Amino acid sequence: MSDMDWHTKVPVECIDCGHEVVTDFDSIRARKTLTCGSCGTSFHIFDVYDMYYEEEPLVKNCIDFILKYVNQPYKIESNDNTSREAVEEFLTKIGFAKLSERMFNDLVKYGDSYLLIRRDHDGKEIVELEPLEPKAMHIVLGEEIRRGIGWTGEREILEFVRKTEQGEDRLKPADVVHIKKREYTRYEPYGESVIRITLKYIHYLRTSGAGARAAGAQWWINYLENWICLGIGVPPILLESNLTKFPKAIVEMASISFIGTINRLHWSTRPLARQVFSEIIKSRNLPEVPRLEWQSLNPTKILRESGFNFMDEMKLWKQLLDLHIITEEEYREAISRYKED
Ligand SMILES: [Zn+2]
Repeated sequence: MSDMDWHTKVPVECIDCGHEVVTDFDSIRARKTLTCGSCGTSFHIFDVYDMYYEEEPLVKNCIDFILKYVNQPYKIESNDNTSREAVEEFLTKIGFAKLSERMFNDLVKYGDSYLLIRRDHDGKEIVELEPLEPKAMHIVLGEEIRRGIGWTGEREILEFVRKTEQGEDRLKPADVVHIKKREYTRYEPYGESVIRITLKYIHYLRTSGAGARAAGAQWWINYLENWICLGIGVPPILLESNLTKFPKAIVEMASISFIGTINRLHWSTRPLARQVFSEIIKSRNLPEVPRLEWQSLNPTKILRESGFNFMDEMKLWKQLLDLHIITEEEYREAISRYKED
């Protein structure tokens, strides 16, 4: 393998026989079908993600840790109460709190979540958002979009094609909300799974882990596991069973980095407002498209759930108050972050 190959080639495993199948980032980005040179089985890169999630406890732990924290309570924000209530009512009716679980599951594991917009029989009102199987979806791209005199790099979406047992469903872009996890500033038609960047490390762990362990090279396993956690977006320390044996400041720093992972996932859900909320607002002649806001995670919440308490910090702030170094208001603000939500 040349140096260039090392950076672009990605070895994975056949989901049937375990034989090594070499792919590359571009093929993964284009969702190309993989074919095993040994047994001839064709499979999707998402099948590999599923296999690694099922078979590698570390991958499962990292992803489950993200899923545990990402589905936060949401709020609908608008300056106009009627607009806000219309959207709130709709989301309650379709059971969005439950649907969002599925949406985040797909977004984290595969990088893409697709929701089919179902309307009533005259096509006027949205009545349901139906999650579609990400693996079955293919995006047909058109021309590059031009804004003014500049090319944006972004491509027009002509249609979403859904593979079914009977054949194919061709879906209009207006009927599908595509939520994707973005990792690059440049345009990408598909999103990026949290697993993608760690594929090589997972492969090495599976192919060389046992040998390294037998040879006493635990450092190699530690190195790979560290990169798998960081690649997925979970600082390894947060997966430790007893976090209180570490300094609180270290755990807090790790939590802040992890919250960055969660925030980026929350930002990915903006197409919901752009497509679904705006249609609801327009169909009812309401003035403002509301925003979807997920409750932001506070590092102290993660610390508290890990067994830390903040008695010392609260005592210090109380002393500052008693010495009249801070005001009552500053005191209340300072300790509010240590309180339960
Ligand atoms: Zn095979």
